[in-house]
Amino acid sequence: MKPYKAKILVIYTGGTIGMVKDPEDGALKPFDFDHLVAQIPELKWLDCIISSISFAQPMDSSNMQPSHWIELVELLEVNHQNYDGFVVLHGSDTMSYTASALSFMVRGLAKPIIFTGSQLPIGDLRTDAKENLITAIQIAALHQEGVPVIQEVGLYFEYKLYRANRTTKVSASHFNAFASFNYPALVESGVQLEVNHGYLWRSMLAAPVFHKRLNDKVGLLKLYPGMPLSLVRSVLLEAGLSAVLIESFGAGNAPDAPWLHEIIQEALAQNVLLCHVTQCAGGGVLDDHYQTSIRFNHPEILSGRDLTTEAALAKLMVLLGSEIDPQELRSLWSTSLCGEQNN
Ligand code: ASP
Repeated sequence: MKPYKAKILVIYTGGTIGMVKDPEDGALKPFDFDHLVAQIPELKWLDCIISSISFAQPMDSSNMQPSHWIELVELLEVNHQNYDGFVVLHGSDTMSYTASALSFMVRGLAKPIIFTGSQLPIGDLRTDAKENLITAIQIAALHQEGVPVIQEVGLYFEYKLYRANRTTKVSASHFNAFASFNYPALVESGVQLEVNHGYLWRSMLAAPVFHKRLNDKVGLLKLYPGMPLSLVRSVLLEAGLSAVLIESFGAGNAPDAPWLHEIIQEALAQNVLLCHVTQCAGGGVLDDHYQTSIRFNHPEILSGRDLTTEAALAKLMVLLGSEIDPQELRSLWSTSLCGEQNN
């Protein structure tokens, strides 16, 4: 019997990986997918069946919006039964946002959705695109006794596969552009692909759920010394937001300034949902540890534990877009839905 060949769908959304220089101004702009494939003849040697599909307008990921996340979910929903795994080519700038969002929007699929991209275009002699794309496809094709090894949304870059909703872009210049400070790599690519089986996500859902309703009235407020009252007031009270994610200091702290606490109290009274995560790259918020703990003063603020900002924003948009009551929302916020936080 011939060994099974996994069927992989590559979805091209844009990003540096497929960009070319504009002859007029020399700036990099997204190009079409055929150009990208023509640069990697090695794709033919891979031991899987590759199909591809492209966004009609491939884009720099700085232009990605929640509406594009929904477009991606729709593509996955239409194609999910026909493929064993998916590779999404995406610009690195907002890859962690999109990939985090997808982890909440597509749950229970039990197949890999691997995001990747590159720091240099595929046509560049020193490009990192080939390794990233080829290995991402190989990881998506990994299976054991017909079952996909990876059954979650991952982000592959520079020899490591991470759980997508744990990642952050940390470098604009190094090939090693992503980090996952609070969760170990799922796969490391060396001479062989080393899978860290104990860290892989397995969903309890019996069937896939494709979530396509988001509420993007979510704000982000990063605390910093000297932030003006007018800024805090406009974000928390005047912007008409359903929720605001506050990036607090260290283990979850905020200045004592009475005006800040009055504004927070007013926002809570107006039913603006407030959550907080640490603005540190690693670790999480430890509520009530210090007298300045933001939740020490306002226990109604939801703790983001060790969530990344990217994952917290996406989780808020998804939960607020679901038809659930505030009680359930608070309970789901504190639950790890797809491995995004330590319980
Ligand atoms: N600006 C590009 C983008 O995010 C950068 C990249 O792809 O790495 O689309």
